[in-house]
Amino acid sequence: MDYTIPFNKPTIVGKELFYISNAIHEGDSAGDAGFTKKCHAYLEQTLGVRKALLTTSCTHALEMSALLLDIQPGDEVIVPSFTFVSTANAFVLRGAKPVFADIRPDTLNIDETQIERLITPRTRAIAPVHYAGVGCEMDVICAIAERHGLAVVEDNAHGLFGKYKGRYLGTFGQFATQSFHETKNIICGEGGALLINDPQYVERAEIIREKGTNRSRFFRGQVDKYSWVDIGSSFLPSDLLAAFLYAQLEVHDQILAARRRVWDYYQAHLNDWAEEHSVRLPPVPGHCEQSYHMFYLVLPSLEDRQRLIGHLRDNGIQSVFHYLPLNMSVMGQKFGGAAGDCPVTEDISDRLLRLPFFNEITEDEQARVVAAIKCFDFSGKGAGSHH
Ligand SMILES: *Cc1c(COP(=O)(O)O)cnc(C)c1O
Repeated sequence: MDYTIPFNKPTIVGKELFYISNAIHEGDSAGDAGFTKKCHAYLEQTLGVRKALLTTSCTHALEMSALLLDIQPGDEVIVPSFTFVSTANAFVLRGAKPVFADIRPDTLNIDETQIERLITPRTRAIAPVHYAGVGCEMDVICAIAERHGLAVVEDNAHGLFGKYKGRYLGTFGQFATQSFHETKNIICGEGGALLINDPQYVERAEIIREKGTNRSRFFRGQVDKYSWVDIGSSFLPSDLLAAFLYAQLEVHDQILAARRRVWDYYQAHLNDWAEEHSVRLPPVPGHCEQSYHMFYLVLPSLEDRQRLIGHLRDNGIQSVFHYLPLNMSVMGQKFGGAAGDCPVTEDISDRLLRLPFFNEITEDEQARVVAAIKCFDFSGKGAGSHH
């Protein structure tokens, strides 16, 4: 059916086409031309990371992290069970075994108190995900990693420009990965970035991203020809996509402000209803500044969640659930995952519902979403339902 209020509507902020036409007129449409460099500089200066490299996706940035860490068959990497497939799959491609950690019941981030018992002599890295752009407990996670000599790769697909204790997400791990997929806060259709905080990885990252060649050094005049020096692939996006992305990045404050308005509206207008019906709204700890990536509800039961999705659909409103527990997936089970391993993930996954959330959703539209939610009949006995 057609929804009058979709879950997501990618926003064009204004200069995307202008910058793309500039890139075309410059004659630069391959990777690492002018707009890619602008994006790199913008991310490096704004976030304070040592090096930012645009990639074709967050997935590819995660795969680059696994290559840079020299992940080998038999190595183990600790990932939350409640995440997108790529957080685990990037390491599995190198032969690693993903070890699934459960999440905290409040922020739905990896439960930092569960990490240490999952560490074995084969553990190489921890890949926390800042769910909904609310920071994981990075102080604890980084201390554990240091104590055991593990790398930290922040999957920051949701959390660009969010902060933990005043410091930008993506600046804690050896690496962090960003997504500019059309469902994220800042977009270019498909795209991503690898953020590097440990300078020892910068040179090899440039090589791996450029098909295993030292082409980046060649372009800087540091070598007089470029050649095959390492393994690698083609992880860099066209400058046309970087041009689109730059138009969005340079107004990231406005994008975040728009999303903050959307988030605050839902929070203000659903708070009492939620309390009355034992529905949980997303908590944001005082030491976290979120990136306003999404607004979710945690309903009392799976049945309530499914019926509310149907009720909103009947009102022309699209709402969606989120990740299925990786420990119970077909692939997760091949690595020893089983039902019951991650009880919080398994429970939350059944009960979580995400509301329509995009930069240009109007207050009228949000009022319709809220009104429809408020006439949902938890008893399922008729009122408010057309069935
Ligand atoms: C969207 C997402 C990804 C994948 O991003 P792509 O850019 O589509 O590869 C990875 N991890 C998380 C947590 C995501 O939300």
